Amino acid sequence: MQLYSTNNPNHIVSLKEAVFKSLPQDNGLYMPLFIPQLSSDFFKHLPQYSFQAVGFEICKALFQETIPEHEIYNIIEKAITFPAPVIHLDEHHAVLELFHGPSLAFKDFGARFMAQLMSYFNKTDRTNTTILVATSGDTGGAVASGFYQTQGVDVIILYPSGKVSPLQEKQLTTLGYNISAVEVEGTFDDCQALVKQAFLDKELNQKFNLSSANSINIARLIPQSFYYFESYKQLMQYKKDIKVVFSVPSGNFGNLTAGLFAKKMGLPIAKFLAATNINDVVPTYIHTGVFSPRPSTRTISNAMDVGNPSNFTRMLHLYSSTWNNMTNDINGYAYSDKETEEAMKNVYRKYNYILDPHGAVGFLAANTHLQETKEANQCLVTLETAHPAKFLEDVERVLELDLILPQQLAELMNKEKKSALLNNDFMEFKSWLLTQNK
Ligand SMILES: *Cc1c(COP(=O)(O)O)cnc(C)c1O
Repeated sequence: MQLYSTNNPNHIVSLKEAVFKSLPQDNGLYMPLFIPQLSSDFFKHLPQYSFQAVGFEICKALFQETIPEHEIYNIIEKAITFPAPVIHLDEHHAVLELFHGPSLAFKDFGARFMAQLMSYFNKTDRTNTTILVATSGDTGGAVASGFYQTQGVDVIILYPSGKVSPLQEKQLTTLGYNISAVEVEGTFDDCQALVKQAFLDKELNQKFNLSSANSINIARLIPQSFYYFESYKQLMQYKKDIKVVFSVPSGNFGNLTAGLFAKKMGLPIAKFLAATNINDVVPTYIHTGVFSPRPSTRTISNAMDVGNPSNFTRMLHLYSSTWNNMTNDINGYAYSDKETEEAMKNVYRKYNYILDPHGAVGFLAANTHLQETKEANQCLVTLETAHPAKFLEDVERVLELDLILPQQLAELMNKEKKSALLNNDFMEFKSWLLTQNK
């Protein structure tokens, strides 16, 4: 498999380089040079494939012999260990639950797959890699659990002291082994600045092979295409000949881009709905053809508070930067917090189903689209990106109920927090890092 940089089509790298480097030097993003169509035989027999087998077929086609088949099998078997069930709300609305992994958000798919892929590459050249990651909440938990006990990889997570939820903090700080947490007396931006400075520091680069696990790494996108096929398969078993529309609650647009990959591979998806909160630069682009990034505004669906979505460049490349082509496949919708809370209440009342604020934004878009098109033969699948208990305070307040914590979260609450509390000071961070003799 070869990948090119979106800033320079002549800059071509291997999958291994794209995974370990994350970003090309020219500040573009890595994109697959070739996205293969899966065979008609595969689609014909899709209902007989397990979720893992679906992932295996996609990787086999995409990797093109970069990785031996038995190793691909091994990667998938270790990364995809939980289901992605489709729940039908009514004749037209369904929810694709992506929160059955250890950190209870869809980011588990990407983080776990990336960890297994790195661990495979490490097997052959036995270098140790140190991953530095700054988090404002959700990413850190998925990366911590995804890389836990991964051979040859140490993970150091920086998070702003007092600015992540107690549950999120437990997800970052209680694992130990190859996962360390640094609690920084500062903001998320300060954490990110410390990570950036570390990547530029000569002494640190001599001692460590530094890498990043941020969400624009191509290894995080690949497994996110699996569950579009998986949910389509489940829908085929439910009803034949339906038009499938996916509503994707979006921030950095990784999830939606993975859906576009699935469509390119031949999955007959009728439409994508780009659903956002008031940080609506992509829906605005879909409506007007003008892309104008701006600072983000805080909302209750805070994992989507993104003012300059990093995967937008990838979306443009998939449509050769042609607005018309993109709008054939993607509709854009944006909603306020008030509308989001109303949707959570309505869905709970009507279907007895609890949506988290992110999923509620997706449901709003699905419902608007259904009202606009009034097509009888379509199924609108809303991606539910996180378990409602991850956003406990807001969900309990809006729905006026007490949530039962899933086992993964309940167990965490009794575990002991271990973190290094550091000032927002690069020299202090660097000295601490140099004592981490790994
Ligand atoms: C990260 C995240 C999103 C946004 O996903 P993108 O791929 O960045 O668009 C949505 N919902 C939840 C719960 C998330 O954690």
